[in-house]
Amino acid sequence: MPEARRTSEALDGHHFEVVVIGAGMAGLASALRLAMFGKSVLLLEKHYVVGGLNSFFARGGRKFDVGLHAVTNFPPNGSAKVSPLIRLCRQLRIPFEELALSPQSFSRVAFPDVDLRFDNEFSFFLSEVERLFPREQDRFQKLLRTMEAFDAYSPEVAGDVSARSILGEHLQEPLLIEILLCPTCYYGSAVENDIDFASFVMLFDAIFRQGLARPLDGIRRFLDPILKRYEELGGKRRMNLGVKRIFTKNDKVERLELDNGESIFADHVISTCGVVETEQMLSSASADVKTDDIGRISILESIAVFKEQPADFGWEETIVFYNDADFFRYERPYELTDPRSGVICIPNNYRYPEGEQMPEGQLRVTCLANYDKWVALDENNYRLQKEICRKAMLDVALGYLPNGKSIGKDLEERTELLDIFSPRTITKFTGHLDGALYGSPRKSRDGSTPFGNLYLAGADQGYVGIVGAMLGGVAIANNRILRGD
Ligand SMILES: Cc1cc2nc3c(=O)[nH]c(=O)nc-3n(C[C@H](O)[C@H](O)[C@H](O)COP(=O)(O)OP(=O)(O)OC[C@H]3O[C@@H](n4cnc5c(N)ncnc54)[C@H](O)[C@@H]3O)c2cc1C
Repeated sequence: MPEARRTSEALDGHHFEVVVIGAGMAGLASALRLAMFGKSVLLLEKHYVVGGLNSFFARGGRKFDVGLHAVTNFPPNGSAKVSPLIRLCRQLRIPFEELALSPQSFSRVAFPDVDLRFDNEFSFFLSEVERLFPREQDRFQKLLRTMEAFDAYSPEVAGDVSARSILGEHLQEPLLIEILLCPTCYYGSAVENDIDFASFVMLFDAIFRQGLARPLDGIRRFLDPILKRYEELGGKRRMNLGVKRIFTKNDKVERLELDNGESIFADHVISTCGVVETEQMLSSASADVKTDDIGRISILESIAVFKEQPADFGWEETIVFYNDADFFRYERPYELTDPRSGVICIPNNYRYPEGEQMPEGQLRVTCLANYDKWVALDENNYRLQKEICRKAMLDVALGYLPNGKSIGKDLEERTELLDIFSPRTITKFTGHLDGALYGSPRKSRDGSTPFGNLYLAGADQGYVGIVGAMLGGVAIANNRILRGD
């Protein structure tokens, strides 16, 4: 398929070869890939910024990433194995260097009495598993071989195989199973207390085998070159304008109705807003949604900004996944939030180029939250509870950082800016029902729907994270539209 640079003018202003619904990571990637091959593409986004869960916002004159903790899949030094991130850059013709990624310092998975460290050297992770679980060596090696033989990115892969049960078949120490599930669930499981094996393998490789990195100036390093290139290729984008209804006839999408009442026609439609959310837009939709199809995992995240660099407090780690018991509970909590486990991210602690650093310290803490309880609050109580839950969550999280409890006492006074987002914010940024962080437990790996020219891309394909969602978007463009040309 030669890259054709032709003007992607809409066929008549209201008819496009492809309409992509949602300008999150998956939508952006699929729209760019299609524009590279000369398709007339319209990208429709109901929000005023691109990026979906991975967008950015301004507060107090500073720009913050909404979601970014880490770009996963950072290719290990000298690795002969091509990382999915490199594959993605090739597909989108974005030079890897342009992303200006800096690797993590080191990260930890902290459980009672066990602190497993890892960095971007897989051999270090393996030595930590060996140090902490010496009796599991042979069984762990066998598990690695099972994972290596498994093509997690295959469109044919089954999306409902329990990773917990496969880990249980391979390993004997329950604590090691929980330690492996904690980071992988937190970075991409749409199901409670488990993760499907394909996503587990994808995330295990993305976090441990490859590694974590971040651009100094955050997610805009990803978003800017994609948008620039898409627009240079003539791709069209309309913001603050959602799709309200998808009209179908004879098993095909016939037209889209936008929030402003306009109609748009397309030969193909890619929806990145989720399987259930897309079904609800269909003119043929029944009013009922199966509750099992709505994701139950949502979060509360707080961002604290202060003058000092975290390293000045002796905090050198980049990410800490923590859990206060031997069993890792990954489920919608009964209360507003469950502070007993979570993720700490210190974005200052990437190895940025010599002499470069974020101007202020940042501490991000995430824990699980109950969507229903958050939406039931009136505005005053919502604000109050955000503050109460933030304090409770921080109190536990600080215990996992060196001298965190004592430093934390005055950190509160030194904090210059605070932001908290709740399950309500996730719904606002993504349109996901119930603030579902990773979408629905029902995935469509190959993006197929009952309608011949409507495909799903992104989180509900089961491709998770920034790199996964983008690769999913590219796969739909390649397999469903370009390959058919
Ligand atoms: C707090 C948090 C932290 C995260 N951190 C990381 C991280 O550090 N690293 C990582 O790799 N991954 C991270 N993720 C996961 C990652 O953000 C997602 O996996 C990925 O962004 C999903 O992209 P997507 O395009 O599939 O979906 P989304 O981001 O949900 O994008 C969907 C887009 O569709 C738009 N939309 C919805 N309905 C309509 C409609 N009717 N009409 C028009 N537009 C519509 C939405 O506004 C949105 O822009 C994080 C997620 C969260 C919530």
